[in-house]
Amino acid sequence: RLILAIESSCDETAASVIDSDLNILANVVASQTDLHQRFGGVVPEIASRAHVENILPVIDESLRQANATLQDLSAIAAVTHPGLVGSLLIGLTAAKTLAAVFDLPLVAVDHLQAHIFACRLAAGRDVFPAVGLVVSGGHTNLYDCQAPLEMELLGSTIDDAAGEAFDKVAAMLGLEYPGGPSIERAARNGNPAAYDFPRSFIKQDRLEFSFSGLKTAVLYRAAGQQAKTVDPASLSRQQIADIAASFQEAVVDVLAAKCGQALQQLGYRTLCVGGGVAANGRLREKLTDVTSQCGAELIIPPMELCTDNAAMAAIAWELLARGETVALDVGVQPGLVRKK
Ligand code: ATP
Ligand code: MG
Ligand code: FE
Repeated sequence: RLILAIESSCDETAASVIDSDLNILANVVASQTDLHQRFGGVVPEIASRAHVENILPVIDESLRQANATLQDLSAIAAVTHPGLVGSLLIGLTAAKTLAAVFDLPLVAVDHLQAHIFACRLAAGRDVFPAVGLVVSGGHTNLYDCQAPLEMELLGSTIDDAAGEAFDKVAAMLGLEYPGGPSIERAARNGNPAAYDFPRSFIKQDRLEFSFSGLKTAVLYRAAGQQAKTVDPASLSRQQIADIAASFQEAVVDVLAAKCGQALQQLGYRTLCVGGGVAANGRLREKLTDVTSQCGAELIIPPMELCTDNAAMAAIAWELLARGETVALDVGVQPGLVRKK
């Protein structure tokens, strides 16, 4: 039994075929990074148009890799929330069309539940209850995950997402988009203790994040108090490296500290992490430290299951088991709407 899953919530067009034992038979992702690069961020209208062009080839390729045909499928799944409205609509419309033509059940998947479910996929066994961290360009969310479909938001960012902060600070320093990898690269030659950047809420119990003050602190450090912009040409390579390393250290310190607090508050023994920022090596080191201090296990899926992908929408099998299919007139929910 096979599910075809489709994900198009942001700037990757993705399709995957997953069997009922959660084996990933295909995981195809068409990334649009080069289209958005010169704008320094995802442009929603460009993303929608690229999804239209990519969606059918990506679905075809995933079926080809899985050595399956549309007749072999038991259900179609699409990520319907949250995300960019135009982007979500392309994937959902493709899914609805296939569901209608092949008379298949349609399953609506929550992108954030799917990110955490990627840990279940990667582990190959039950990982719940767990603290969940989704840390990406659009999200910095901590969850109490009791089961795949029982996730309670413990807290999130009150301003920028962590990945967004990486992207904005990289742009300030004249480093290329996406900012996360650029900052990490620059930071290798820098001193993480060169600048003492703010670590919002780190000493407080509240499980929330704020990265906008950090961004401003970087701006003032790079260009002087009250500056509005940075001229990267005015900074030496070493200054850029030191700022990058100190900024990165501040972000990962807070992320790791909040995960530790959540593990302690809930008394859980597992930390599940998803989202593109999980690629960061320094974050992985800090999360390894904090989980071992808490006597907890750290689960970070391989990168292709951390960044946006359709395999993680295998959580559709859980929904299907509960009979939670949706009608063909289902819509997308771009905002952070929770179904229950
Ligand atoms: P969404 O937030 O909806 O899941 P997204 O496309 O913003 O979508 P991802 O594709 O999961 O999220 O991740 C992209 C983000 O991850 C970018 O902000 C990027 O800068 C960040 N990122 C990627 N690699 C690294 C890294 N090595 N260190 C820090 N951040 C990174
Ligand atoms: Mg992306
Ligand atoms: Fe995502």
